[in-house]
Amino acid sequence: MMRDTIRGWCLMLLVMCGFAAPAAAQSYAEGQFDPAIPTLIATVGHAPGARITSPAQAYAYLKALVAAAPDRTQLVQYATSWEGRPLYYLVLSAPANMAKLEAIRADMANIAAGRAGNGTALPVTWLAYGVHGNEISSTDAALMTAYHLLAAKDDPKAAKIMGSTIVVIDPMQNPDGRARFVNNFLASTGIAPDADRQAAEHDEPWPSGRVNHYMFDLNRDWFTLSQPETRGKVAAIREWNPVVVVDLHEMGGDETYFFSPAAQPFSPNLTPAQIRAYELIGRYNAAAFDARGEPYFTREVYDLFYPGYGDTWNAHQGAIGSTYEQGSARGLVFARRDGTELTYADGIANHFSASLATASAVADNAQRFLSDFAAYRAGNASGAAGRGTYVIDLGKRRWNAERLGRRLAAQGITVLRRDGSASVCGKSYPAGYLAVPQAQPAARLIRSLLDRDTPLPPDFLAEQERRRSVDLPHELYDVTAWAVGPMAGVDVALCNGVVGGDALAPDAPIAPKAEGSGTFAIAVPWTDSGQARLVTLALREGIDGRVTDKAFAAGGRQFPRGTVVFPAGSNTPEMMVRLTELAQDIGAQTVFLESGWVDSGPNLGSEHFVRLTLPRVAVAWDDGISQLSAGALRYVLEQRIGLPVTPIRTARLARADLSDYDVVLVPEGDPSAQLGEGGQRALRSFVQRGGVLVAVGDSLETFSSGDNPLLAVKREAALGRDPGEAGGDKGDLAEAVAITSDAEYREAIKDPAALPDTLPGALLNVVGEPDHFLSAGYDEGAVVLATGTQIFTPLGRDKGVNAVRFAAPGNLIASGYVWDENRRQMAYKPYLMAQPTGRGLVIGFAHDPSTRGFLEGLDLMIANAVLVAPSRVR
Ligand SMILES: [Zn+2]
Repeated sequence: MMRDTIRGWCLMLLVMCGFAAPAAAQSYAEGQFDPAIPTLIATVGHAPGARITSPAQAYAYLKALVAAAPDRTQLVQYATSWEGRPLYYLVLSAPANMAKLEAIRADMANIAAGRAGNGTALPVTWLAYGVHGNEISSTDAALMTAYHLLAAKDDPKAAKIMGSTIVVIDPMQNPDGRARFVNNFLASTGIAPDADRQAAEHDEPWPSGRVNHYMFDLNRDWFTLSQPETRGKVAAIREWNPVVVVDLHEMGGDETYFFSPAAQPFSPNLTPAQIRAYELIGRYNAAAFDARGEPYFTREVYDLFYPGYGDTWNAHQGAIGSTYEQGSARGLVFARRDGTELTYADGIANHFSASLATASAVADNAQRFLSDFAAYRAGNASGAAGRGTYVIDLGKRRWNAERLGRRLAAQGITVLRRDGSASVCGKSYPAGYLAVPQAQPAARLIRSLLDRDTPLPPDFLAEQERRRSVDLPHELYDVTAWAVGPMAGVDVALCNGVVGGDALAPDAPIAPKAEGSGTFAIAVPWTDSGQARLVTLALREGIDGRVTDKAFAAGGRQFPRGTVVFPAGSNTPEMMVRLTELAQDIGAQTVFLESGWVDSGPNLGSEHFVRLTLPRVAVAWDDGISQLSAGALRYVLEQRIGLPVTPIRTARLARADLSDYDVVLVPEGDPSAQLGEGGQRALRSFVQRGGVLVAVGDSLETFSSGDNPLLAVKREAALGRDPGEAGGDKGDLAEAVAITSDAEYREAIKDPAALPDTLPGALLNVVGEPDHFLSAGYDEGAVVLATGTQIFTPLGRDKGVNAVRFAAPGNLIASGYVWDENRRQMAYKPYLMAQPTGRGLVIGFAHDPSTRGFLEGLDLMIANAVLVAPSRVR
């Protein structure tokens, strides 16, 4: 039976099964191969391309290769995924190089530090696969590339790669996602692989294998470092200082193959020498693909602008960082729209070919790659990209500022802590502020992350405005803003004349800040993410606290609204000690109070203080919900704030017992169909009985339609459009219209119900309503990320409160590019709104505050809506 099944698969795949074509099938190249190097089939039971190699099989094969060639390999575990799977990289080079590997690495570190090398260095080519776990062929290509480099006996290119370079293969950057894909694939297949693109084996259930456990796109996380997979990878890359980094992906199955040069826009922080090197590598790939008669494209779709991708982040360190994309069989065989079939083996072959061609480009031009990299790093160190210093203020959102400093340090950026206070850039900074000099090897990464704006090339922008004027979609692939200071809620200024200080270590604990004296109570000011975490962890341990919605002054200190006070009178002495221990661990700020007497504002016994209890939070999960939004919200709540949540599948909400919960959180998406009328009724009655419903982004629409909406806002059409024109009763004849100009023609064909043009993503300023608990912590406003097309009408005063709204048009844009009509239309519109219903409250975020986990400055707002709101409502 088993043999018949295997034979059936082999017939489907013809030559790809090892026993069908015994000699040639072990590499994707022709030639003689060393029998001492184990083949994939001998190790895990299938030939390359015959099955989708599972994570466990990939580990087994990597270990078998290392066992067979210990003098030419080194396997290093660099991280562990959330679900406990190891992440490895495999170092490959000739025995003579491996014998002095530490010396080579040390010399590369010299060069990367901007110093002269001692001649030992060899260029490092870093090949990374499978960052999106359902882009499956890349991991098998990684295994085949390793096999070929070790086993090929008569391939002079392989010998040169091994002799003159170090190759590092990271075969599986997202093992949790790959495991998820492979499990679904195996569970869905029958007696033979099905080419039907609708078949369940090609159609993954929610969540897809693209994302990791917390449903993050790991190819957006390189500068945020929110996920363990990314943190380990960035630390590993910093140890090796590769001159070339390739991130190998898959795209839609009807596509061919993409390699660099990339599409516009390029980051202005790339150098002309880098752009020339992309051309060189591109020609090597083109030659390899031409020789095999394989089609490909370059300079389209995949750009080099957002610095959180594997290609751009590494390019901002001086490497030549590229994305390669293979059309995905999303299984073993896939029916293309053009009538041909794409096999899994085809995808492996292309990625294998590009991997070797790229490694060859480096081997043939080893000196050029080394000297370009050395010139790049040394030039930056001597000020080629600027000589100022970014100053990070600890006066506002201290904990987030400290975290930002460590995140930068983890990327190989020197961050200095300055002992004294300073008065620079017309502002005074308290002692301990952080300083990031521009004159260092990673200067261009620093500029990209800390400059307020990274401008798009003017000709690219002009082309996008032209396209929009003729109703074509714009070509921006990702967000246009990522200024990490404002996103963390932290002030960063570029100043001159700041020098010296001690380097900050990426893993240095954040120092707690304990102030005041007295044993009456401990106050936790509501000022940053660390404070929200302390309050949450304290509530989880049963420590009793009270939260105020009005500012107060006590013991000569000011406390902002949102401050949580833990009174000794309602806690045991052990609990008060435990609170101080938690504050120590987190690095949070606490203030000891002597008395309940206040100098101004409410006393602890006032109705402005309410008892805060740990809410039970359900999150809508599964179909109808955006996996990125659900994952990021869960990540921020659980991993940063410390609040556990219960995911409940959307289709189950209609019959779930919601009386167990205080909050139901509905991430971005359109869950209307899954909720159905039953789900809508269940959520309405949940709110009426005192629950808090928090809807995010476009899922607001699910609750803002109908005669009696839970949230009385409406999504707006684009400026100047009138949705009433659409679908009206006009009879059979149209009104006669004379069209006399191009503008009138455009007007005549416009869609009257069109939504505003979609925003790729920009950072916008918002302002808080000063007397509402939802805006506590935001007296000075905030910076939010706005993406997409949703703009909502403000809530009427009779319905509820627009607790946070977008700023005036002249002050709206904090960073990035916003179409002018969107800018005018978004000003003053609600960002965070709340409408009471029955005994409960409906809260809406017009845009997701948790996107990519990279907006730490909004953690307090999320905590206000999820952690605090239930206690306020009760
Ligand atoms: Zn991808």
